[in-house]
Amino acid sequence: MVIILDYSEYLKLKKQLTFNLAEEKAIKELNIQPDAFLPVLFSLKFGGDWSFKTSQLEALAVKEKITRFNEELSEGYTVERVTLFVNPELKGTEGRVLRLEKCGTKKERELVERPFRVELDAEDIVVVNLNPGSMQITLKRTRGPLKFEGSAAYGISHEIEHLEGCETLGKYLWEFEYRVDRSN
Ligand SMILES: [Zn+2]
Repeated sequence: MVIILDYSEYLKLKKQLTFNLAEEKAIKELNIQPDAFLPVLFSLKFGGDWSFKTSQLEALAVKEKITRFNEELSEGYTVERVTLFVNPELKGTEGRVLRLEKCGTKKERELVERPFRVELDAEDIVVVNLNPGSMQITLKRTRGPLKFEGSAAYGISHEIEHLEGCETLGKYLWEFEYRVDRSN
């Protein structure tokens, strides 16, 4: 087989291969089970929260976005923090929030109930920070349990449901009622 590339395609491919090698090296350096890192790669490449399960391993990655905005310069960047839990263990939940959610594996949004706060521990926890300002992705091992609130808590609850294989059936948008508010 022959592959013909122009020079810019060649440079792009070379950069991509180098990036993949650096990724592999970082995973090795942190000594994470390679398969356990998959949800992080999905979260970085496609966005959102992901979970992954084999007979030996469960892994869950939850993404939080934090915008750092400098009012004086009127500019900033959004840091993405992906927290990876290898063999996660739910320590506790607090509160109940009704919300519409769209799962990647489903066609429609569903009305579900999620906890407002969750506390999660795991055999291994790695925090990955993607900084579009410095264009760096840093990995840091940390110890649990960790507490999450709001969006991240909903995401964790959603992914844990996938891992446990017991998905709640919610109500759909078409079960809502429209109401015109005529008050002034
Ligand atoms: Zn889902």
